[in-house]
Amino acid sequence: MSHPWEGAHMSRILIIEDEESIAELEKDYLELSGFEVEIETDGLAGQARALQGGCDLVILDVMLPGADGFEILKQIRREREIPVVMVSAKKDDIDKIRGLGLGADDYVTKPFSPSELIARVKAHLTRYDRLRGSAAAPNDEIEIRGLRIDKTARRVYLNGEEKIFTTKEFDLLTFLAEHPNRVYTKGELFKNIWGMDSVGEIATVTVHVKKIREKIEDDSSRPTYIETIWGVGYRFKD
Ligand code: CA
Repeated sequence: MSHPWEGAHMSRILIIEDEESIAELEKDYLELSGFEVEIETDGLAGQARALQGGCDLVILDVMLPGADGFEILKQIRREREIPVVMVSAKKDDIDKIRGLGLGADDYVTKPFSPSELIARVKAHLTRYDRLRGSAAAPNDEIEIRGLRIDKTARRVYLNGEEKIFTTKEFDLLTFLAEHPNRVYTKGELFKNIWGMDSVGEIATVTVHVKKIREKIEDDSSRPTYIETIWGVGYRFKD
């Protein structure tokens, strides 16, 4: 069978639900929205499937043969970072899940409208993607004494205020800041930033350091970030 979004990343949804008519209804709607869907009708089998990994979201019924939804939710929370949407016929169950603080991402009471369920599934997948995205890039900034270099956005801030850098100024500052407390000669810096085959002079480095200092130092004649090592070159102070 072909999916409407074939080729794009298809999120996999696991439905743990013992009422087959409900499970099939959920599955149909999810597949129409481009999701890959698996169904487990037994609690223990469902729990094993969820913990095994490979699914992006779980729709979990509370009343199940084998193991109940509360227990399964607890196990998933212990081992996996995926959204879990709890489904129950009883409002009391939802109060209980909340009360126990088991960490369900959402709750749906039967009977529910399939389109509402789909909307929630999409919202939680998007939220988790964002969380994962932001957690995956913690090293893209360098921060030293009020100076923040955002390598991803290629932006520089001093005490929260953005300073406008040219490409080479940015590259030079970033290179030095990534190798603090090491002395580089102007020749080494030139090679690293402009490349060996570049046409230019080592004096270019001096000019760029001067411009960088004007942007990030209170007093360019007494620099606190990029120090001049007389007769040798420059060193970034950690
Ligand atoms: Ca049930």
